Amino acid sequence: MNILVLNCGSATLKFQLIATDLDLISQNADRRFVRGSIERIGGEAIITSQLEGHAVQRSTAPLRDTRAAVDFIIRWLCSPDANLAEVRAIADIHAVGHRVVHGGEFFKHSVLIDEEVLRGIEDCIDLAPLHNPANLKGILAARELFGVGLPQVAVFDTAFHQTLPETAYLYALPYPLYRRYRIRRYGFHGTSHRYVAYRYRQLCNMERVATNIITLHLGNGCSAAAIRAGNSIDTSMGFTPLEGLVMGTRSGDLDPAIVDWLAAKEGLSAREVETLLNKQSGLLGISGLTNDMRDLLDEARENNDRRARLAIELFCYRIRKYIGAYLAAMNGADAVVFTGGIGENSPEVRTTICAGLEWLGLHLDAERNAAQTNGREGVISTTDSHLAAYVIPTDEELLIARDTARCVAGVSLERRS
Ligand code: AMP
Repeated sequence: MNILVLNCGSATLKFQLIATDLDLISQNADRRFVRGSIERIGGEAIITSQLEGHAVQRSTAPLRDTRAAVDFIIRWLCSPDANLAEVRAIADIHAVGHRVVHGGEFFKHSVLIDEEVLRGIEDCIDLAPLHNPANLKGILAARELFGVGLPQVAVFDTAFHQTLPETAYLYALPYPLYRRYRIRRYGFHGTSHRYVAYRYRQLCNMERVATNIITLHLGNGCSAAAIRAGNSIDTSMGFTPLEGLVMGTRSGDLDPAIVDWLAAKEGLSAREVETLLNKQSGLLGISGLTNDMRDLLDEARENNDRRARLAIELFCYRIRKYIGAYLAAMNGADAVVFTGGIGENSPEVRTTICAGLEWLGLHLDAERNAAQTNGREGVISTTDSHLAAYVIPTDEELLIARDTARCVAGVSLERRS
C-alpha cells in the first residue's frame, strides 16, 4: 500500500510517500517514492522535493495554511509533474501516517485515528502546546481532503518511552503534583530510538528481548535512551525536550534554581528565561557562534577558536556522563548506537565522546569510524571491544509508514519495534 507520511509543524511540513505492507516489511523491501518539505507555510512557501533516484527540486507557491500545504502535496503527487507510475489519482494513496509529538500517558503505541484518538491528542495539547495543535491540523486537513474513509494513523514521539519504570519517569516533586498534572518524564525522539534499536537487532541477528543498548540521537535536538530487553527504561529528555544532553540551542540539564535567579538578575519573565534556555543556549550559547556542529568543527579546526572547542567538549562530556549513568541503570549494555545528523556524520565527535571509555572495553576502530558517514551503517568499534559502538542512520518516516501499514492490517503494536 502507498502511504503518505506527514510531519506537520506550525510553519513547516515534511512528507514522504512510501510503499509498504506486511510482506514488504518482512522482506525489508519497502520503497520510498518521494521525500520533501514545505517551509514558510502562511506566505510564499518553499517546496523542496526529491523523487527516488532524482535530484532535489525547489519551487515556491503561496500556501496560506496546513490544509493548503497538504492539498498541494496530494495534487503534486498525482500530477504528471511528479510522474509517479504508482500514483495517478488520489485513490492510489491508501493511508496516511502522522508523526504526533505528544501522546501523554494515553498512547503507548501507534493507533488508527478515530474520534476518541483525536480527543486524546487534543487532551495532550497542554503538554505540547506548540506541536500537538500543528499535528492535529495535519490530521484534520488530510481527513477533509481524502475523506473520513481513508485510514490515518498517529505515531507518537513519546510512545516508545512509556515503558520507563516509575523510578525513571517520576521527578522527586510532591507526588500529588504528578497525580494532578501528570508532571513526569515523557521523553521524545521515541520513533528514532525505536527504529535504530530495531535496525541494530537486525544487523546483529538477535531477538528483541536480547537487545541491551544505549541509543544516542544526536541532531539539532539530542537525546539518549537506555534500552533493556528491547524496551526503553530511561531517556534523557524529560517533561519537555529541554532536559538532558547539550543540544544545538537548548541547554539540557541545569539547576532549576538558575531560572528564578536569572529572571531576577536580567529582569526577565519565566517565559523569557525558558526561551533563553531553548533558543540561545547549548552549542550556540557556549560558542557564541552557531548551533551547527559542522560549522563549529570547522571553526575549531581552522581557527582553533577556544569557545567553539569548548562547546564541542561540553557537548561530548555530557553524553559521556549519560553513557556512564545508563550503563549503571541497566546493568551494562552490549553497544552504544549513534544516530542523528551529528551521530551519523561526525567521526570526530564520536571519537571525542568515546575517548576515556576504554576502561569499559569500548575501543573505536579509527578506519571503521572514519568510513561510517553519509547514511552508511555499521560497527565502528574494534572486534575485541567489550562494549561495541555502531552508527545506524535513523529513519523515522519508514517506521511511521510501517506502523501505519500494521495498524491498517489490524496487527497489534504493543511491544513491537
Ligand atoms: P539533524 O537535526 O539530525 O538534521 O542534525 C543536524 C546537526 O547535524 C547539525 O548540527 C549539523 O551541523 C550536524 N551535521 C550534519 N552533518 C554533519 C557532519 N558531516 N559533521 C558534523 N556535524 C554534522
